[in-house]
Amino acid sequence: MTKNAMPDVAVLDDEQNVSQSVEKVNLLGMSEQKLTAFFESLGEKRFRVKQVMQWMHQRGVIDFDAMSDLSKALRAKLADLAEINLPELVSEQTSEDGTRKWLVKVAGGSCIEMVYIPEGNRGTLCVSSQIGCSLDCSFCSTGKQGFNRDLSAAEIIGQLWIAAKSMDSLDPTKDRIISNVVLMGMGEPLLNFDNVVDAMNLMMHDCAYGLSKRRVTLSTAGVVPALDRLGDVTDVSLAISLHAPNDELRNQLVPLNRKYPIAELLRSAQGYLAKLPDKRRKITLEYTLIREVNDRPEHARELAALLVDTPCKINLIPFNPFDQSDYQRVSNNALYRFRDILIEAGYTVTLRTTRGDDIDAACGQLAGQVNDRTKRSQRYRQEQGLEAIRIIPG
Ligand code: SF4
Repeated sequence: MTKNAMPDVAVLDDEQNVSQSVEKVNLLGMSEQKLTAFFESLGEKRFRVKQVMQWMHQRGVIDFDAMSDLSKALRAKLADLAEINLPELVSEQTSEDGTRKWLVKVAGGSCIEMVYIPEGNRGTLCVSSQIGCSLDCSFCSTGKQGFNRDLSAAEIIGQLWIAAKSMDSLDPTKDRIISNVVLMGMGEPLLNFDNVVDAMNLMMHDCAYGLSKRRVTLSTAGVVPALDRLGDVTDVSLAISLHAPNDELRNQLVPLNRKYPIAELLRSAQGYLAKLPDKRRKITLEYTLIREVNDRPEHARELAALLVDTPCKINLIPFNPFDQSDYQRVSNNALYRFRDILIEAGYTVTLRTTRGDDIDAACGQLAGQVNDRTKRSQRYRQEQGLEAIRIIPG
């Protein structure tokens, strides 16, 4: 299990003496179950859990003293033992087209970004699950920054809290400005399984953000064993970062494919769908189109044949060039030709348009600032059995 929201027990002072600090429990990322266990350990009734969840997540209150329907004694007890600790907001930008971007600092000093994209009557917030990413996909600027650590559940849900608070969108009785959340920012969510599941459950909880399961999307590069387990614990929407119609090409673009090839990944994704009660649900297949790499008509035809048994819609994403990459954006001709072949084959296809250009908010630019821990990164890869697949150079 990955780290949870518990803060460090001991703090090293300048003289390297260990001074014991009172360990306060961060309630922000706790699932209802964990909060219930916490309140029961204090001898408190279960209904306190819902009250505190609503204060934190729906009213945006992080000071126990302001939680006026809790007894004075409980407020004092909570102030002694617990905290509601959020990432620190560093900056906020709004694009001419309404796209918004926040930079937040998390424990350890790294920064991560969230992006909000309004579209008609919906608005999607893209959040991160890790600081950096160990998977090193060759077209991804996050992958180039290395890996630092998993985000805690509090740091994941804290991104939604900050964005919703800043847009006055916490109150579930008002119109939702943030109607959808995608775990598509930095990191591979399935490599931070427990924290991601806790955070997604809060996104969907009636006493927290109350989003429907269809409006919370987990996007994965294809960590098959974790995907096999996912359907046992949640029923959120699923997106697969496919990006290639065959293993040879996908091995270059998504090195994880060497460990879990396309056939295994699609089998696992179909298994996820099979566990959902609603048999009409589909997976979203993400396909980043890169000029003269994976954008040819034969790639589109191969993709159409590959997905014939997978209930899905296909989201085409023009590659967004960045400094450390030699790849180029697909031409409009190739993009529309690719799309049309898939449509003719009977697929529902969407094109992701570039948004927030003036604030660098496009896909692949959710860079933040990662303090790469090379040794930690290597150890993490070894723990995850990923060392063997680290190849790349483009
Ligand atoms: S595309 Fe996703 S999985 Fe791949 S390196 Fe980037 S963040 Fe990681």
